[in-house]
Amino acid sequence: MFDICELHEPATLREAKERLQAAPDLRVVAGGTDVLIRLQHGHLAGAGLLSLRRVPGLDAIRMLDDGTLEVGAMAPFTRIFEDPLVRAHAPVLAEASVSMGGPQIRNVATIGGNICNGAVSADSASTLFALDALLRLETLEDARVIPIADFYAGPGKVNLRPGELLTAVLIPREGYAGMGGHYIKYAMRKAMDIATLGVAALAKVREGRFVELRIGLGVAAPVPIRCAEAEAWAPGKQVTLDTLAEIAALAVKPSRARTSWRASKDYREHLIEVLVQRAVAEAVKRAGDCCAD
Ligand SMILES: Cc1cc2nc3c(=O)[nH]c(=O)nc-3n(C[C@H](O)[C@H](O)[C@H](O)COP(=O)(O)OP(=O)(O)OC[C@H]3O[C@@H](n4cnc5c(N)ncnc54)[C@H](O)[C@@H]3O)c2cc1C
Repeated sequence: MFDICELHEPATLREAKERLQAAPDLRVVAGGTDVLIRLQHGHLAGAGLLSLRRVPGLDAIRMLDDGTLEVGAMAPFTRIFEDPLVRAHAPVLAEASVSMGGPQIRNVATIGGNICNGAVSADSASTLFALDALLRLETLEDARVIPIADFYAGPGKVNLRPGELLTAVLIPREGYAGMGGHYIKYAMRKAMDIATLGVAALAKVREGRFVELRIGLGVAAPVPIRCAEAEAWAPGKQVTLDTLAEIAALAVKPSRARTSWRASKDYREHLIEVLVQRAVAEAVKRAGDCCAD
């Protein structure tokens, strides 16, 4: 049994916002795959829950008129992985989505829950960092759109204001257009394991030279990060093995890897270097032919 004191299941987004404004301490539940485990472990004893499951439309995935790909916060990972718009325009997000959990988890776990949980190992995070994703956050009276990088405040901590709900992830056209991408999840087991390191690379290449490069890393620091120095160095450089090696070496610099039971600091840094090189090489290959603008 779960130790909860109340459960609200609003039928509209407005009702959800009203409830949360009236009682900001209510714990929002999306798929519940993180929340229910915390409840089971006794970390949320006596909590009141606000489930978003009955709110219509929050799971929609659509293309907006300006080319922004909008992924509703309640979209489960199976849906994201299978979605034709995601596959056509941001296949790297589909790749990250299918790498998380197992089929049962992917059927219920949502992208909104993955982000709001604030875990640095979240499989969507490094990819959304590399895609320059934005988050739409709404209260009853207000709405704001912020870069995902501004949302992460520390391990397990996010910048959600009282009464605020994440309603959508927005990937602007400039975030995905013409970019080839690749996500590598390095974990100790092939399935059902949290990432020891997550690497997402997006590359735009013309006539054998980098035009643009973006690299997102998960579990390389207390929050997901981008590799600014490597990204700034790459444009104009010819795609060669030496260039890839230099990008990989620069990508280690912003990391603040630490030793945990999963891996030592040195091993994680080694992984960053090796996996960035692989992810960028594959992104370059895919840049040629995979992405519709
Ligand atoms: C067996 C198992 C395997 C797993 N494997 C992986 C894995 O490989 N990779 C990975 O990244 N994760 C993994 N997870 C973790 C978990 O499944 C994900 O983090 C998932 O995306 C959480 O989504 P959810 O919808 O279940 O979130 P919930 O548990 O419902 O919520 C998570 C947090 O976000 C808040 N929240 C949720 N939605 C909103 C919203 N719209 N607005 C504001 N706050 C919100 C909740 O209040 C809560 O704090 C695993 C979990 C389990 C149990």
